[in-house]
Amino acid sequence: QQEIATVLKQLGIKESNPAYSTGLKWGGSNNKTTRDIYSPADGNLIATVNMATAKDYEQVITTAQEAFKTWRKVPAPKRGEIVRQVGEKLREHKEALGKLVSYEMGKILQEGLGEVQEMIDICDFAVGLSRQLHGFTMHSERPQHRMYEQYHPLGIVGVISAFNFPVAVWSWNAMLAAVCGDVIVWKPSEKTPLTAIACQHILREVLAENELPEGIFNLVIGDAEIGSLMSKDTRVPLVSATGSTRMGKKVGEAVGARLGRSLLELGGNNAIIVTENADLEMALRAIVFGAVGTCGQRCTSTRRIIVHDTVYDQLKERLLKVYDNLPIGHPLDSTTLVGPLIDKDAVNAFTNALQEVQQEGGTLLIGGEILSGENYKTGTYVTPAIVEAENHFEMVQEETFAPILYLIRYSGDVENAIELQNGVKQGLSSSIFSTNLLETEAFLSHWGSDCGIANVNIGTSGAEIGGAFGGEKDTGGGRESGSDAWRIYMRRQTNTINYSREMPLAQGIKFDI
Ligand code: NAD
Repeated sequence: QQEIATVLKQLGIKESNPAYSTGLKWGGSNNKTTRDIYSPADGNLIATVNMATAKDYEQVITTAQEAFKTWRKVPAPKRGEIVRQVGEKLREHKEALGKLVSYEMGKILQEGLGEVQEMIDICDFAVGLSRQLHGFTMHSERPQHRMYEQYHPLGIVGVISAFNFPVAVWSWNAMLAAVCGDVIVWKPSEKTPLTAIACQHILREVLAENELPEGIFNLVIGDAEIGSLMSKDTRVPLVSATGSTRMGKKVGEAVGARLGRSLLELGGNNAIIVTENADLEMALRAIVFGAVGTCGQRCTSTRRIIVHDTVYDQLKERLLKVYDNLPIGHPLDSTTLVGPLIDKDAVNAFTNALQEVQQEGGTLLIGGEILSGENYKTGTYVTPAIVEAENHFEMVQEETFAPILYLIRYSGDVENAIELQNGVKQGLSSSIFSTNLLETEAFLSHWGSDCGIANVNIGTSGAEIGGAFGGEKDTGGGRESGSDAWRIYMRRQTNTINYSREMPLAQGIKFDI
């Protein structure tokens, strides 16, 4: 408790925290609606937050609009310099922020620190990017004409984020959008607002030190209602939303109805294919980490393994041995590998899914209990489950955001396994374990995996920030983070310049005046 108190103090978290921030200023501390935030690790009340009203949201958007007028005129590399300073501050606060991520969300400390490291990495990436926001130049068909394209800032980028990556996903969007010349309004998950408030404190220091205008980086603490206001708001040209497919469909529909742009990062149902040519030791490590890491609460968590007949029993036996000895406990304890689920609703979803899949004919091989006793008083600790199942079962087709691993058998050619892997509605992450080039290339081919991420001899979970991150089908189609994902944060403009004294008309049209 002493350690947590120090962390909260260092990050500016008070007993009662304000509802919104327009960059430099905080607001709405005396609002009527508040939310208490309890740690899923030990059930202790960490702090209380005030929830923003529609009026608060309005205040934030107006301030952001005003800031955009200044920010868009700052040269991109100078915007990059601000992001560099944000990265430096994050380095200073890495330990404290990592601990708060772990304590508020429940992921183990190493993952909390890893999440902050991702934020630092995306800052570095964005700094480099700030000198590379380039378009193409094209040869014109007309003499003494030049054509080229430019990328210009969009305006306000709304970021709606999920509880499981409470800060990293925001930074993937915000740091790129910032160097692109946009201003950002962030609505974090109502389940993890404290880490967002901590980030805003860090940003405020950078804004103040650089005498930047109010409203470049903004925060609104609220639930789905605020997210819904943002989705309908024509002053927000791009809404980047991370969360469930259910939420993404609503946001996508609202943004689409006003012909805005949305970047959707939604649920996954990720599979690892293990062929007869797999290195089973490697596969085992990847499967266990992918299935139980973050207690199965990553969008890229491994939910299905599709295993060849010839190695099925051997792999199953090895997995059961490892699952029997998983260190489950307080996420800040360095020996823990599996922390708690976020809340009791998540525990209910876990137990219901296990019941339903068994009714459909699945066999629960291990796990599925809710732990109790002195170290597990919160009722949020569960034992990760393995279920033998078939791909077409309704529960296997769904993403249950908890540690359930479905074991699916295949025989014959690798194409049979690929068909099963693709046979779900979601399309985020996928992987194959095989040392046979014919199998791995088939998996990566145009008739192979239909996911946004397809890996060979490395699991489904996690991703490097250098690549574009996102998935197809019900995962929403969005891409963020590395590669050329920055383009969605900008508007593209094609320019034609005539440096002759003639005025040729297009299509050879003669139009005498
Ligand atoms: P969620 O859908 O319950 O909430 C996500 C965010 O959306 C929250 O901020 C919430 O307040 C907001 N929201 C909910 N309904 C809304 C609406 N109608 N309009 C606007 N905003 C609304 O998701 P969660 O439980 O926080 O997160 C878990 C889900 O997120 C899983 O499905 C997981 O796969 C997904 N996820 C996806 C990625 C990815 O990159 N693809 C990353 C992390 C999490």
